[in-house]
Amino acid sequence: MNGHICHKPETFPREKFHQLGVGNGKKVLIIGESPAPKGWVVSGKACYRPDGKILPTGKRLNEVLEPFKMSVETTGFTELVKCFVSKRSELKDCSSKCWKILLDQLKDGEYKLLIILGVHTTSLFSKLIEEDLEVGQISSLTLNKQTYKVLPIFHPSPVNPTGHKKNIKLFKELEKEIKLILK
Ligand SMILES: [Zn+2]
Repeated sequence: MNGHICHKPETFPREKFHQLGVGNGKKVLIIGESPAPKGWVVSGKACYRPDGKILPTGKRLNEVLEPFKMSVETTGFTELVKCFVSKRSELKDCSSKCWKILLDQLKDGEYKLLIILGVHTTSLFSKLIEEDLEVGQISSLTLNKQTYKVLPIFHPSPVNPTGHKKNIKLFKELEKEIKLILK
């Protein structure tokens, strides 16, 4: 599937590709790069395939979220780019045109912590906010006059063989700090 919605972001239904968090996950929004063509583009559910099986990325994220009694099923979830891009080179342009949708979606949740998935999404995000975010470091960020904590993490996808291991380590190191943010 291939389609750009970024030329008309005002017509995009903002509940699309935005899973609201529940319970302990209410205060966390996970931000991926763009909707997975074999995942929620076809299944309608973040990190899930149409046959009801969880994607490896979701499985790995759940492992690091477990100590906080959250999972990809209970946190907020969205994508920086809402388009189904055919070339990765399109992501930069799409992310800037889709930015307004993300800002609106933020207003629909009760988020305190934004978790950005992967080095590439972090670099796109950094350009949009004109600040340099670093993977593994929590920083403060004001969007829509609200202050959020932002934590970019490594991409947990199996495509990135060391990402998950590094995430386990960083969540362990930041556990206390994250628990304080979510209190
Ligand atoms: Zn686009």
